[in-house]
Amino acid sequence: MRVGILGGGQLGWMTILEGRKLGFEFFVLNKDPKAPACKVADACFTPEQAETFLKSCDVITYEFEHIEQGLVEKVSHLLSPSAEVLKLKFSRIQEKSFYRKMGYPTAEFTFAKGEELYKKLVEFGLPAVVKAEKLGYDGKGQYLVESLFGMDEIFKNHSKSENFLVERRVNFLFEFSLIGVRSKRGDVRVYPMTINHHEKGVLLYNYTSSMHIKEAHNILTSLMEDLNIVGLLAVEFFFCQDGKVLINEMAPRPHNTGHYTLDGCYTSQFENLLRAIANLPLGSAKLKLPSGMVNLLGASIQDIDVEGLLSLEGIKLYWYGKEKRERRKMGHINIVANTQKEVEEKIKSVLYLTYQTQRV
Ligand code: AMP
Repeated sequence: MRVGILGGGQLGWMTILEGRKLGFEFFVLNKDPKAPACKVADACFTPEQAETFLKSCDVITYEFEHIEQGLVEKVSHLLSPSAEVLKLKFSRIQEKSFYRKMGYPTAEFTFAKGEELYKKLVEFGLPAVVKAEKLGYDGKGQYLVESLFGMDEIFKNHSKSENFLVERRVNFLFEFSLIGVRSKRGDVRVYPMTINHHEKGVLLYNYTSSMHIKEAHNILTSLMEDLNIVGLLAVEFFFCQDGKVLINEMAPRPHNTGHYTLDGCYTSQFENLLRAIANLPLGSAKLKLPSGMVNLLGASIQDIDVEGLLSLEGIKLYWYGKEKRERRKMGHINIVANTQKEVEEKIKSVLYLTYQTQRV
């Protein structure tokens, strides 16, 4: 099977490393040939070489969502999950409107065109979370507005012609996510839920929980059906004070909160993605042992205590080999242990050994 991947980041890198075991070949389309996935692919193509890339692939998937529309059209007949699903992710407004139309629960929201943001915020009420319609990820293009003075910050980074999503700030008890995989044959597996801790909009660590939130499970499986997903779908949720579950967002691709599946589950999210799009039987998504993950944000390998980390039992280091940038996801640590409590303790040790303790 010859698999094409749009995007060259760490999600593609892990997909390829997992897919090698299945004997698959991999072709990456990415601007930067030094990107992690390009280093382990059979060949890497630039967007200008899209035609040659296309000819090399039996099926194409993606590892990030911000892909140029023209390119998506060009490869859509081989794309899995489909171009229609990917297009929903081009605009936060479109995505949220889809949930509303289909009756899925989200935080209350409205939209605003740049110049009407002030008026919309006054009508909507504060505090609110303002999110730029396009290109937002890892807390980028996202602002908690507690007073109307806070709007200056937004227009430092955005033009008045941009559109914004305005959301009610959710006073959640915790955040969690669920990842599901659905094959061409319509078989479905759902990974255990993880509890996720973000720092300034970026995931810092997460761990598996034995909780089963039926409503979230139903939302995930129903979304996979509605969107006719062939591949992965990750859904991030808020668990509210009143016990209600709200969707924050979804991602139709491998997800950062599923990195633990490489070591904690019988079949990783990456392998199951490949099985799904190659029309093979899905693997078990069951947990072998309680697991967790810590992201290594904005660090170089010299900045972390590798010796100390690798001396801990049940710890695996994944280093992506990217150029260091502030708050960039540079690598992660997977953790497995006999109990959830032990996982949580190990997370604390890992945060300490990676000098990220102050962020908790
Ligand atoms: P996003 O980029 O939409 O995934 O948001 C990143 C993180 O920002 C989330 O995981 C939450 O921690 C926080 N966040 C986003 N939207 C809201 C909201 N409406 N209310 C409270 N926190 C939010």
